[in-house]
Amino acid sequence: RAKGEGRNRFCFFEPEMGALVQARRTLEMELRKATDAQDLQLAYQPQVDIATGNIEGFEALLRWQHKERGFISPEEFIPIAEETGLIKTIGRWVLEQACREARKWPANLQVGVNVSPVQFRANTLLADVEAALSSSGLPPERLELEITEGILMQDTVANLDTLEALRGLGVHIAMDDFGTGYSSLGYIRKFRFDRIKIDKSFIHDVLTSSDSQAVVQAVCGLCTTLEIQSVAEGVEDEQQLEFLRQEGCHQAQGYYFARPMPAVAALEMATSGIATTR
Ligand code: C2E
Ligand code: MG
Ligand code: MG
Ligand code: MG
Repeated sequence: RAKGEGRNRFCFFEPEMGALVQARRTLEMELRKATDAQDLQLAYQPQVDIATGNIEGFEALLRWQHKERGFISPEEFIPIAEETGLIKTIGRWVLEQACREARKWPANLQVGVNVSPVQFRANTLLADVEAALSSSGLPPERLELEITEGILMQDTVANLDTLEALRGLGVHIAMDDFGTGYSSLGYIRKFRFDRIKIDKSFIHDVLTSSDSQAVVQAVCGLCTTLEIQSVAEGVEDEQQLEFLRQEGCHQAQGYYFARPMPAVAALEMATSGIATTR
């Protein structure tokens, strides 16, 4: 009887699982083609100094415009790129492209590039970063790599070595999505980040949730004490910005200033130095 149940259950699940796996495979194949055909693009979103309103730099964000399906979010295709290892090729291209673009901006502006834990573990990251810097001629201190807490959670010693080696090149290192991982504060002591990016989920309800308020206050205070730059992600309105200003947060990034935009628009904004189009 138990056997029968088992078989029934198996039959019930299998077709659905099969469809899911199939959909993923299709997406994977198409992503591979998109990578080869250079159908991937980068959008750039400005990061603004809260005290002065000046643009400090832009974050490069991957965009995939699929021929039939339209825009596919990085939240959807990056996990697939990571599982298949395709992220190594894509990540190398992102580094090259972002550095080449940033080289056209005024010399005080930097570019932020997201680095996947898979790239990080692949042992080619250091060489990829060096290659992108030398082929673009971008000074290393104008490149900021954005990593997540996950990198410090696994294989800590080897990863700390990689981080130190990257820093040795002169690039900046930012911790992205801060507050979403585990025992975040511990990691801040292990490696001295140049910047901490407060996750947008905390900014989203900073005016309505006392928990989020407490987190934002704590992180801003910590950054001030440790002399690390703090950046708030996902700033969408004036009130959020005002709260951040009062907490001494250094920079802000979000729809309130600008949505991620094509390279040409970013270049124009970078040259004019004005972040607010309002
Ligand atoms: P992230 O690095 O934390 O990037 C910030 C995300 O917040 C971006 O989503 C950006 O478009 C979005 N955002 C900016 N301002 C606002 C706002 O005011 N409100 C809201 N609700 N969202 C805002 P996006 O572009 O969809 O990227 C999602 C994630 O995909 C990124 O999160 C990053 O983890 C990953 N990603 C993007 N590009 C790359 C890449 O080149 N390489 C790797 N490894 N990951 C990437
Ligand atoms: Mg990021
Ligand atoms: Mg983030
Ligand atoms: Mg994120």
